[in-house]
Amino acid sequence: MPRLILQPGKERSLLRRHPWVFAGSVDRLDGRARPGDTVDVVAADGRPLARAAWSPSSQIRARVWSFDPDEIIDDAFFKRRVAAALARRLALPEFAASVAEGAARGMRVIHGESDGLPGVVADCYGDTVVVQLTAAGPERWRRAIVGALAAATGCAHLYERSDADVRKLEGLLPEVGWRLGGPAGGEAAELIISENGVRMHVDVVGGHKTGFYLDQRDNRLLLGQLAAGRRVLNCFCYTGGFSLQALAGDAASVLSIDSSGPALVTAAANLALNPQLPAGRAEWREADVFSELRALRSAGAQFDLIVLDPPKFAPSASHAQRAARAYKDINLLGFRLLAPGGLLMSYSCSGGIDHQLFQKIVADAAVDAGRDARIVRRLAASADHPVALGFPEGEYLKGLLCQVD
Ligand code: SAH
Repeated sequence: MPRLILQPGKERSLLRRHPWVFAGSVDRLDGRARPGDTVDVVAADGRPLARAAWSPSSQIRARVWSFDPDEIIDDAFFKRRVAAALARRLALPEFAASVAEGAARGMRVIHGESDGLPGVVADCYGDTVVVQLTAAGPERWRRAIVGALAAATGCAHLYERSDADVRKLEGLLPEVGWRLGGPAGGEAAELIISENGVRMHVDVVGGHKTGFYLDQRDNRLLLGQLAAGRRVLNCFCYTGGFSLQALAGDAASVLSIDSSGPALVTAAANLALNPQLPAGRAEWREADVFSELRALRSAGAQFDLIVLDPPKFAPSASHAQRAARAYKDINLLGFRLLAPGGLLMSYSCSGGIDHQLFQKIVADAAVDAGRDARIVRRLAASADHPVALGFPEGEYLKGLLCQVD
């Protein structure tokens, strides 16, 4: 087995169970390894630390598969890890077999590093699994990972959606396609899941991420619980997940904004899929949120509940400053549009902006908007997106529910 020797002191983060070895921590590689091969990670004093996947093109030179330096990385290893990840979720009440969503449930089954599988994400939509591989290690073990997912979930259809930009940093080209079964019900068939009692289309081939933002499931449920009688504004609505929960929660009106025409077409189709909802209270608007909020303000519009769920403005810490400006702008505009006593539900999914910075940005926005506000809830991703204690980077989604005077 090739040995990756660290520089003195650089074993510390691994001893704290952080699974990345950065280029700057590496002293040398003893032996030969191709991208994705398994290497033994060894401290400068010779102490064995972990087994990891070698990734020579990336700044993250190795990602740890196992902190047991003797664990064998083979097909059986992936079977164990995938089965354990699924078992962890099924042990939580919201994913117990009896929940209302039944067979049409959407659930993340593998959340990368936090499930001990760096560079692997897998989402289950009913009988279909969508897997995304983003690093050299998973690329090498594709067949084992696909097999393990099929065995653990029992899903008959598996689509690979390895087209995320981060693959470029690993020197990997996009890889997409059906790996198992083809689309459920044939090419023309549409995949539909049920979330908190609302039916939603999921486009695993052309949609964002693996097709749907499962991380906001609990927050969409909360929005529904807050919506009764309120005028709701849902910014960056994508396919209408928050909007439909607001309607299900008996909102007085729901105005939804997104710049993507296709996303809004799906949003309207999602509303049509749920005839129990009061469709007459929904309005979809294709627009840039920044300019539309200004226009609404000029027109004297007011809302009682505003959702701001923008895309990742800061993919990494180097973009944080420009992103902070953008977050502040939309939050400022949001605060200005709130009626007295109104609620702002505001998110950042940028890895480069942590909780503390996000709270400061929202606080600055409130000051500039001349509004007094308090945090009534701190929000995060749903429980199928766990954060390993040794990997704080896993906490990418953070949100605040603020109430204004
Ligand atoms: N809240 C959604 C997910 C939002 S994803 C859900 O629960 O499913 C972010 C969305 O922002 C995408 O649909 C994208 O099309 C949209 N978007 C990005 N920039 C935008 C802009 N400047 N104005 C309006 N929409 C934008």
